[in-house]
Order: sequence, then structure tokens, then C-alpha cells
Amino acid sequence: MQKRYNSFSEELKRVFGCRVQRISVDAGFSCPNLDGTLGTGGCIFCGGKGSGSFGILRGGSVADQVEAGKEVMVRKYKARLFIAYFQAYSNTYAEPERLRKLYDEALQVKDVAGLIVGTRPDCLSSEVLDLLAEYSLKTYFWLEMGLQSPLDRTLELIHRGHDFAAFESSVRKCREKGIRVCAHVILGLPGENRGEMLATAAVLNRMGINGVKIHMLHVMKDTPLEDMYRQGIVRLFDRDEYVGLVCDFLERLRPEISVQRLTGDGGRDFLIAPLWSLNKFEVLNAIDYELERRGSCQGSGLQG
Ligand code: SF4
Repeated sequence: MQKRYNSFSEELKRVFGCRVQRISVDAGFSCPNLDGTLGTGGCIFCGGKGSGSFGILRGGSVADQVEAGKEVMVRKYKARLFIAYFQAYSNTYAEPERLRKLYDEALQVKDVAGLIVGTRPDCLSSEVLDLLAEYSLKTYFWLEMGLQSPLDRTLELIHRGHDFAAFESSVRKCREKGIRVCAHVILGLPGENRGEMLATAAVLNRMGINGVKIHMLHVMKDTPLEDMYRQGIVRLFDRDEYVGLVCDFLERLRPEISVQRLTGDGGRDFLIAPLWSLNKFEVLNAIDYELERRGSCQGSGLQG
């Protein structure tokens, strides 16, 4: 079925003309929200393991991790090219020379055609931004940055350690330097109503963001969020509610924004709830069918 949104995997096929897979890397970084610079507890959904990095094995050089990932991706998906995805913790939280060494190590592995670097808005000094601008020119490059929510009261509640203004300012600097930014957004954060979650799409449109990763709030083992969930403070979506909300969100999102994720990425061994999110293909199919049923698509709800 033809996607009714600007799917990242389709973009990769268009750009490279073949199957391209991302390989997650843990390069041994930390995060100012964990190492004591801003705090030690981290965001409530992370709990010190590094958001999105549950299940990535630490240890081994960057090159070794990429080589091991390649073997899996070739076997599973017959991928021909790869993008090294610096995913665990804050991957710009170091001196530019160390960053350059690690990024180059990944790019030197055969058939690695680009880089994705995940970070926080407060880990982007002007020297680091200059370095990222250089990689934006010499390779296929995306910077991923956690927004989660544009509401300061939510950012405080989830212990992000930065406010929305910090995110907005970093996106503006990236735009000035030609660095493409993909924002991470979580739908279903405590205390937010449906209208507030959908308003995030308008915020992304206004900022001129290049890409977005959307997922539902999910509860991982050994996180502060797990405690809140067990105390009944946190309510999670059921699948149909989430699918309807994502479709509403996509209809409000500008069509040129690259949609890089629409569901959760919690590994089976670490996920507490919602368990329906483990079946990613079912969720993605349900989103496709709902957009088809509505006769709508990304951006179709925008005026003019
Ligand atoms: S910014 Fe990322 S790594 Fe740091 S505490 Fe939050 S989720 Fe964890």
C-alpha cells in the first residue's frame, strides 16, 4: 500500500536506490541529565539506560558494532547500504575531536553511507555545530534531537533538564548551518490533553523541522515512569486510540516533513506496557488503513 505520509524508508530508497538499514551504535557517551551536570536521575522514561538504547549492547569499538550490525541487516533484510545511528545517550556530548574520531570510524566501514546522531539541545556548542555542518556537507546526515513535548510544564514533569526555548534555539542554529534536524515527540505524556498533543504538530511546522519521530508513551523496566505507572499515576493509550491520534497528528503536519517513526521502539525484554506496541507492523498497518479509510494524508488537514 502506498504510504500516505512522507516515509523515511521511502526517502532512503529514493536517495540511495536500494535497501538501506540503520545500525544502532553505543559509542560510550553519557548525558548531562545523568552524569550530575544537570541531574543523575535522567528523564522519567529513561532511568539511566539512555532513551532508545534499551537492548543495544555496550562495549566493542564503533567499527565492530557497525560490522556486527551489518551482518544482521544483510541476513534479515538483504540491505546493501547502511547508516550508522549514534543512538545511545547524548552523542554530541564530548569535545569535537573525539566526536570526529568516532563519526569517522563509522563512516570508514565499507558500505556505510551516512550518519544519524542523536542528542539533546544543550549538547550543541558552536564548535560541535560547526563539526556537524561539515558532516552535513560530506555525507548523508541527520541530527536527532529529543523534544518530547513543547510544553515547559511537561518538560519539567518528565525531568528533561531543559525547556522548550533551548530546543527552539538549537533548531534555529542548525537551520542556519544547514544541519537537518529530526525531532522526537512522545504522545501521551502525563498531564497533556489531546488538543495539546496535536498542537505539537503546528509547533514543528512553525520551526521548519526537517523530520519527526513520533511514539506513544511506553513504560520501560527500572525507570521512574515504571513506578508512576505501578502507582496508577500514568494512563497509556490503547492501540485504536493511539492510531486515531497519530492520524490526526499526521493530517496537521506539513507534507515535506520526513516521518521517521510512528510507533514505539521498546525491546521485548525491557517493555512493561503497552504490550500491543510490540507488534510494530500491526500498528503501522493500522495507521495506513485508518488514513486510507479517512481518505486523508500527511498535511491534508492544513489550511491553504
Ligand atoms: S536525554 Fe536521553 S539519555 Fe539523557 S536522561 Fe533523557 S532520555 Fe536519558
